[in-house]
Amino acid sequence: MAKKVLVVGEVRDGELRNVSYEAIAAGKLIADGGEVVGVIMGENVNHLVNNLFHYGTDRVVVVNHEDLKSYTTDAYQQALLQVIDSEKPEGIILGHTALGKDLSPRIAMKSNTGLISDAVAVEKDGDEIIFTRPIYSGKAFEKKKVKEGIIFATIRPNNIPPLEKDEARTGDITFANVEIKDLRTIITNVVRKVTTGVDLSEAKVIISGGRGVKSKEGFEPLQELANVLGGAVGASRGACDAEYCDYSLQIGQTGKVVTPDLYIACGISGAIQHLAGMSNSKVIVAINKDPEAPIFDVADYGIVGDLFEVVPILTEELKQVLNVKEEVMK
Ligand SMILES: Cc1cc2nc3c(=O)[nH]c(=O)nc-3n(C[C@H](O)[C@H](O)[C@H](O)COP(=O)(O)OP(=O)(O)OC[C@H]3O[C@@H](n4cnc5c(N)ncnc54)[C@H](O)[C@@H]3O)c2cc1C
Repeated sequence: MAKKVLVVGEVRDGELRNVSYEAIAAGKLIADGGEVVGVIMGENVNHLVNNLFHYGTDRVVVVNHEDLKSYTTDAYQQALLQVIDSEKPEGIILGHTALGKDLSPRIAMKSNTGLISDAVAVEKDGDEIIFTRPIYSGKAFEKKKVKEGIIFATIRPNNIPPLEKDEARTGDITFANVEIKDLRTIITNVVRKVTTGVDLSEAKVIISGGRGVKSKEGFEPLQELANVLGGAVGASRGACDAEYCDYSLQIGQTGKVVTPDLYIACGISGAIQHLAGMSNSKVIVAINKDPEAPIFDVADYGIVGDLFEVVPILTEELKQVLNVKEEVMK
C-alpha cells in the first residue's frame, strides 16, 4: 500500500552524510510507490536539496533556522516534530548515527510511536515491511515489523545501498517555518578532534590498529595503507588506553560500530568487546603475530606475521595494483 515516508537527511560540515542517501533507498521501499519526502534542517541548507532529489526523494522540506546551525536535541526535536505534525507521514527513516540515536527515541516518544533502531536490512514481504537488526552485539539478528502506527526506523550506515544517482531528477520544495523556543542548550562553538580524513562510521575501508601497534608512530604505516585504499584508520580500546591514538577512533562495544566493505585488523587480539563493533564487516583481514589470536576466528583472511613487516608490503603491492588499474582505465 502506498505510503508517505519522511527521510531525515543528516547535514555535517555543510554536506549531506551518505547515510541520508541510504535512508532514501529504505524510504522508497517502505513508501511502495507513495511519496518519499526528504527533510533537511540547518541554518542555510538550500544548496543540499538537489542531492536529495538525485538519490530518489519526490519532495523536500527545507527547514532553515539559526538555532539549527549545530545539532542540539532540543532544537532539532522541536523542528522535526513540527514537520511531522504538518506532513503526517506513515513512515520516518533516519540514519543510526550519533544524531539519529539521540533524536529518534525522543521523536518516537513524543509522536507516540514505536521505533526499530539500527536496522541493517529492509525487505518487503507482500504488504509487510521487514527490518533486520543485530542483537547481542552482532552475534544474532532479529526480524521486526510494525503492526500498527508509523513505521519509524533508524538504519545503520553502510548497509543499505543507495539508489543510483540520477542528476535529471527533480521535485517540489517546501520551505517550512518552525518555531523554536525555550532552548536549554545552545552550541556556541564546535571544536573537532579529528578534522581530516574519511569518516570512520561511513568508511568503506578501515585499517585498525591495536596494542600490537606499540606506539603513536606505529600507526603511521596503517595510515599509509588507509591513504592508498581511500580508507580510515580505526583502533581497539587497547590502543586508545595505551594513548597510541585518540578515543574517537575506538571501535567496539563502547566505541563506534562499523560495517565497512573491508576491515583490516592489525595487532588486535579480537576481544569480544572489539568484535561487537566490527564483526559484521563484509570482508575481515587479520594481521597478528599469534596464530591463536581469536581475531582469526572471525577473519576471512588471516596473515600470521609481524604487522610492521606485513603492512608496508601490502601498501606497496596495493599501490602497484591500483596504479596499474588506473593506467588500464586511461
Ligand atoms: C566493558 C568493556 C568494554 C570494552 N569496550 C571495548 C571496545 O569498545 N573496543 C575494544 O577494542 N575493546 C574494548 N574493551 C577492551 C577489550 O576487552 C580488550 O581489552 C581490547 O580490545 C584489547 O585490545 P587489543 O586487541 O589492541 O590488545 P591485546 O589484547 O593486548 O592484543 C594485542 C595483539 O597484538 C598482537 N601483536 C603484538 N605485536 C604484534 C606485531 N608486531 N604484529 C602483529 N601482531 C602483534 C598480539 O599477538 C595480540 O593479539 C572493553 C572492555 C570492557 C571490560
